[in-house]
Amino acid sequence: MRIIRSPAAMAAWSEGLRREGVTIGFVPTMGALHDGHRSLIRAARLGSDALVVSVFVNPTQFGPGEDLTRYPRSLARDRALCRRERADVCFEPTETAMYPKGYQTVVTVPEIARRWEGAVRPHHFQGVATVVTKLFGIVRPHFAWFGQKDYQQAMLVRQLVKDLNLGVKIIVRPTVREPDGLAMSSRNVRLSVEERAVAAMLYTSLQEGREAIRRGITNASAVQKAMASVIEQEPLLTTDYLAVCDPRTLEPLTRITSKAVLLGAVRVGSVRLIDNLVVSAPRKRRGKMVERISATWLPSPAPR
Ligand code: AMP
Repeated sequence: MRIIRSPAAMAAWSEGLRREGVTIGFVPTMGALHDGHRSLIRAARLGSDALVVSVFVNPTQFGPGEDLTRYPRSLARDRALCRRERADVCFEPTETAMYPKGYQTVVTVPEIARRWEGAVRPHHFQGVATVVTKLFGIVRPHFAWFGQKDYQQAMLVRQLVKDLNLGVKIIVRPTVREPDGLAMSSRNVRLSVEERAVAAMLYTSLQEGREAIRRGITNASAVQKAMASVIEQEPLLTTDYLAVCDPRTLEPLTRITSKAVLLGAVRVGSVRLIDNLVVSAPRKRRGKMVERISATWLPSPAPR
């Protein structure tokens, strides 16, 4: 596996392969790799000829006072994981290579970034959209893999690829969880033992919402209350948002008639946790409630 740090060298490597007709798969990450990242890397290894994993803690997606300096870093272990999973390149650009003196351009996807994560973290999605666009411009992948854990982010990336004609196929993979249901995240290592013990309640709360929908509750505010009741039981958890949304637009729903995405973000100590579940409302068939098959599902952006 090659370690490439310079964007110019990375671009040259990719250009050479593209000229030969080799397909390039890409998994962008911020490092501190775990089994969630590993599942993307494995899918990418199977889905493309050449595989690039990037490790870059992107400063522009952290707001003032957020956890940029405390973000976990484990480059040696990350490289070992990439090597074991047979990545061809680990791309590790420096901050100054990505944002040299005089850097100006930003990318915004205003509608998708308006709510939820974007409302709590006002600079976040502009930073994400900009770095993903830059990374795609450097790595020039044919395919890129993202995790459903960051549902709004995956929607944003699909939208910007479409809007800017970037020609990258985006593949979204299901969320990988710890045995108790907590979504794997690089930030989980910063949880204390007490915090870790209650962190899975975010997933429990989403499951509670899912059960309510499966029982036939169609009133979104009743489902939201069912989710909130779980979080309210635990004083260590503070809610940023728990929402029942349209999976294609992320607008809050009032009634759940077909599919919904349950979005949740809570704080435990200094760590923010996010998670989501896509749920299908049961269908009435011949007077009986029949549950729809609820595969993990992420839609393409809604047509305008
Ligand atoms: P990050 O390093 O947190 O920026 O994440 C890099 C990629 O890994 C993003 O596409 C995330 O959505 C994805 N990812 C992070 N955690 C998980 C998880 N638990 N399951 C699946 N994908 C994940």
